[in-house]
Amino acid sequence: MLEITDLQVVYPNGNEALKSITVSAKRGEIIGIIGRSGAGKSTLLRCINGLQEVTNGTVILDGENITAMSSSQLQLARRHIGFIWQEYNLVERLPVITNVLTGRLGYNSGIGSFFGYFDSHHRAIALDSLERVNLLHRANFRADRLSGGEKQRVSIARAIAQEPKILLADEPVASLDPELSMQVLSDLARVAREVGVLTLINIHQVELASAFCDRIVGVAQGVVVYDGLPEGLTEPILDRIYRFDKNALPHAEPAPLKESWQRELPNLPNEAVAGV
Ligand code: ADP
Repeated sequence: MLEITDLQVVYPNGNEALKSITVSAKRGEIIGIIGRSGAGKSTLLRCINGLQEVTNGTVILDGENITAMSSSQLQLARRHIGFIWQEYNLVERLPVITNVLTGRLGYNSGIGSFFGYFDSHHRAIALDSLERVNLLHRANFRADRLSGGEKQRVSIARAIAQEPKILLADEPVASLDPELSMQVLSDLARVAREVGVLTLINIHQVELASAFCDRIVGVAQGVVVYDGLPEGLTEPILDRIYRFDKNALPHAEPAPLKESWQRELPNLPNEAVAGV
């Protein structure tokens, strides 16, 4: 479904954000991309939806080479790429349902789309997406009347309304407090599983990534340094991802992550713990 091969991005100022990233992913997987700030996580997501020009390498999504597309081809391809931003990117003065319908823009052709008219087929998909995030009762509220957690759930609904082949979420809970972060990530993972869409979530909190993702890709300095199950994130691996520039003490016995993050998050709900 997704094949990223030898991806390199060097910014015009000489910053080598990605050195050589090779990752492949299947339909339905929920993958947490973890790493320190500056590791290259956002750059990687931007390459997948074609927002970032690559220096070398390829991104193939569902058989199509994103890295070789013209801007008009990219516009079409992006219909199928749902994106969830840290700051929601909602049109605050518009109703929730209209915000979700913008996820249908790529499919709405003709004169109706010019006037913002969406027929009953598009509306049914938008309402179904809102229902999936339990916000149907907010459909006619203006977006600026919602809480941060609700806004992010609307942006999940908007992305799902695109009927995407892939969902990309860039630090989706960085603006939320810990309790809301849990709820929003839990909703995101549940909805992604329900519709079976491949989902990549950039997230810097390892404990949240481990609780809600099936697989973890650890990035450090533009390179994948871990690709495996959350259970495999031992302390030495976490050193490689987060503490590569410190003189980490050697570990006689690697501590399993499960114990360490459970210590850090004693109030984790049972369903989150069961997922690990
Ligand atoms: P992350 O999402 O993991 O925090 P980024 O992908 O944002 O990492 O950044 C990776 C590296 O690329 C960092 O060193 C960052 O400073 C640099 N970088 C990001 N965007 C730009 C840009 N537009 N121009 C130059 N350097 C950039």
